Amino acid sequence: MKLLRHIPAWDSSPPEAWKHWQLAQLRDYLSRRVIPFSAHYRRLFDRHGIDPLDIKTLDHWNRVPFTSKKDLANPRDFVLVPDEAVLRREPAMWLDALMHGRNAAKEHAEAEFRPILLTSTTGRSSDPVPFLYTKHDLSNLDLAGSRLMLAGRSQRDFRHINLFPYAPHLAFWLAHHAGLGFGTFMLSTGGGKTLGTDGNIKLIDKIQPDILIGMPTFIYHVMREAVETGRRWPNLKRIVLGGEKAAEGLRARLRDLAAELGSPDVHVMATYGFTEAKIAWPECVGESHDASGYHLSPDLGIIELIDPKTGEVVPDGKPGEIVFTPLNARGTVVLRYRTGDIAEGGLTWEKCPNCGRTCPRILGPISRVSEVRELNFGKLKGTLVNFNVLEHLLDDQRGIAAWQIELRKRNDDALDTDEVHLHIAAEPGVSERDLEVAVSGRFHEVTEIRPNGLHFHPLSELREQLGVGRLLKEEKLVDHRPKDQTATSPVALSS
Ligand SMILES: [Zn+2]
Repeated sequence: MKLLRHIPAWDSSPPEAWKHWQLAQLRDYLSRRVIPFSAHYRRLFDRHGIDPLDIKTLDHWNRVPFTSKKDLANPRDFVLVPDEAVLRREPAMWLDALMHGRNAAKEHAEAEFRPILLTSTTGRSSDPVPFLYTKHDLSNLDLAGSRLMLAGRSQRDFRHINLFPYAPHLAFWLAHHAGLGFGTFMLSTGGGKTLGTDGNIKLIDKIQPDILIGMPTFIYHVMREAVETGRRWPNLKRIVLGGEKAAEGLRARLRDLAAELGSPDVHVMATYGFTEAKIAWPECVGESHDASGYHLSPDLGIIELIDPKTGEVVPDGKPGEIVFTPLNARGTVVLRYRTGDIAEGGLTWEKCPNCGRTCPRILGPISRVSEVRELNFGKLKGTLVNFNVLEHLLDDQRGIAAWQIELRKRNDDALDTDEVHLHIAAEPGVSERDLEVAVSGRFHEVTEIRPNGLHFHPLSELREQLGVGRLLKEEKLVDHRPKDQTATSPVALSS
């Protein structure tokens, strides 16, 4: 059921227009769609004595508790299941029945509420959580997808190739719907698992696309192979990245590879999204190659940045954990969802210097909250190491083709000290010795520790170790320390 309220233009309305509109939409969405039809949120709002119609300011909204991954143990409780009696009492519903007939009104309700697609989270540590989409959600996916195309200055007559793996994951479906929503040619190859690297390269040779879309490491892998086998792809204009973070160093390398393939003016554009949002947000393509933040869709959701420790909303421009609330989703709905992702550059409502759009943006780099880990180096017990910083360092180091950080116990003994090992594949023609000096020096600067071991591998071997083309999220940080043994193992025999 469409709402009659006027929606400000996505990318050219001033912030004031949005702030009022979002609160009005939120009250309406919660009171008519979420609270009556979501088992979880009906209970939660009831328990906290919150009436959605009382949410008049963002301060009121802050009283609503966060939702996090651990709350999603019963995913069914988060699906909007309509109550026919409630729906039938809605003025908009009888108006629909009156104007279009009862059968048409019933069809509209089906399209709004019946789940027809599922994507799921990819966590290796926890069970995947399913997120359901209705036809209504798919039209939002078309809309969010076509905004990706607009922000990337694509054109209808461009040819697009989607290299995301065929999987029940947001990235694949968003790329597919970007093509549908924008009305352009989009070939989905299924990525490395279905056609292999070679199959992908052959298709790209034939189609000569303007735009490649996929996971950063897979696209990098495909383009490198293409350069090594002497392909010419002179038509490339954009490389659109999703599914994992896209570091500055990697972007520069992708531009270099594109130039070697015969396309010197390629723009690399990243997107940010997550399963629970059921949409993603694009960077823009403008004059410069500087990353200009992820352009949000304020009509489809509210993004708040919070201090991960206190849960307080941080001021604009300050780093914070990304918290998402949809404003128009059906199917599975989570409110004030804590992503565990930190936007280091904060949230801004200022006009984008690159494209001039006035939609709010979140500025990267995006890091994981949970990647500060406590390591025991013997002398310094309980040293906190922020692996996000290490990952940015390795991503941005020129000369590295791939890397992996491994945590181990010294001598594989659960009671011994922790060790950090780096596995690196060097770019062709780069001296391993120089790279070793550069990496361990920078590593020491940012963490005050030195890696216990630096191991060089051929690229193919490290790719296998990382799971490129095999796993949806590559294993950039592996923890080989025995789990929970310190608590249960008998006292180690002294030597
Ligand atoms: Zn922009």
